[in-house]
Amino acid sequence: MPFGIAIHGGAGTILREKLTSEKEKAIRSALEFAIQTGTKCLQDGETALKAVELAIRTMEDNPLFNAGKGSVFTHQGIIEMDAAIMCGQTLNAGSVAGVRGVKNPITLAKTVLEKSDFIMLSGKGAADFAKQHQLDIEPLEYFFTEDRLQQLKKALKKQKVQLDHSDQEDKYGTVGAVALDQHGNLAAATSTGGMTNKRYGRIGDSPLIGIGTYANNETCAISCTGHGEYFMRSVVAYDIACLMEYKGWSLQQASEHVIFEKLPKIGGSGGVIAIDTQGNIALPFSSKGMYRASQINGEDIHVAIFKDDE
Ligand code: ASP
Repeated sequence: MPFGIAIHGGAGTILREKLTSEKEKAIRSALEFAIQTGTKCLQDGETALKAVELAIRTMEDNPLFNAGKGSVFTHQGIIEMDAAIMCGQTLNAGSVAGVRGVKNPITLAKTVLEKSDFIMLSGKGAADFAKQHQLDIEPLEYFFTEDRLQQLKKALKKQKVQLDHSDQEDKYGTVGAVALDQHGNLAAATSTGGMTNKRYGRIGDSPLIGIGTYANNETCAISCTGHGEYFMRSVVAYDIACLMEYKGWSLQQASEHVIFEKLPKIGGSGGVIAIDTQGNIALPFSSKGMYRASQINGEDIHVAIFKDDE
């Protein structure tokens, strides 16, 4: 049976000239580590659900990404995280939104899937649920990084003049994973701090099942990254799955259509990572770059950042 995993570390204005070679190296090795972690799990015969959780945890623990440690700041200078996970075999899902202090929001989402009667928990209730299940809790300083603080300061300054939605510079870093296990099952997961300077309890697309995260053994597993408001309006992940199910399109065709045709029509940009039950992988994105990596059947790891990376 084929097995494989694909991950993303966010899409946005990622330009060669803006990335130091040191940071590029660090990002590439973090992506590789996430893939190796997921692949090892799949090789051991574990579930796709476990593989996407473990791959994402490595990126949540790495301050380079906008998830877990290193998440972006809200307008108030705090950190509120969103995450979701879905099993393609059972269509069961778990999701958390606006959660504070939980070290690994993706594990919290998986605990919601496995141990609650609900699909989506938010805010204080979600954190209480994490404590009840003895998940790791960290003080708020654990999540803070200087880079993200500077991004907030920049965003606050800009906002005084105007709200600039075209500047995607600070939006990347969300993480996602999709996998196919040796039992033929798919899973998808996404984790994020959302968008710098968000306020009023804003929730993005990432924790919304069918939008930022979706898995169904009949079609595919998808994790999205980009400006969430547009992804919500386009119901991106489920739309891709529907094009496959109802029109019989391939994974590549369906995901490219949504990213390159439908999303831009309303002004949205970003990308998805997608895998199907045959082990096909599609990683289309319309932004300047997307941190991404994949591995099929334990063969070579493919890591890429820019548009022209092969
Ligand atoms: N989609 C995420 C959000 O809007 C952000 C991202 O993917 O970078 O919250």
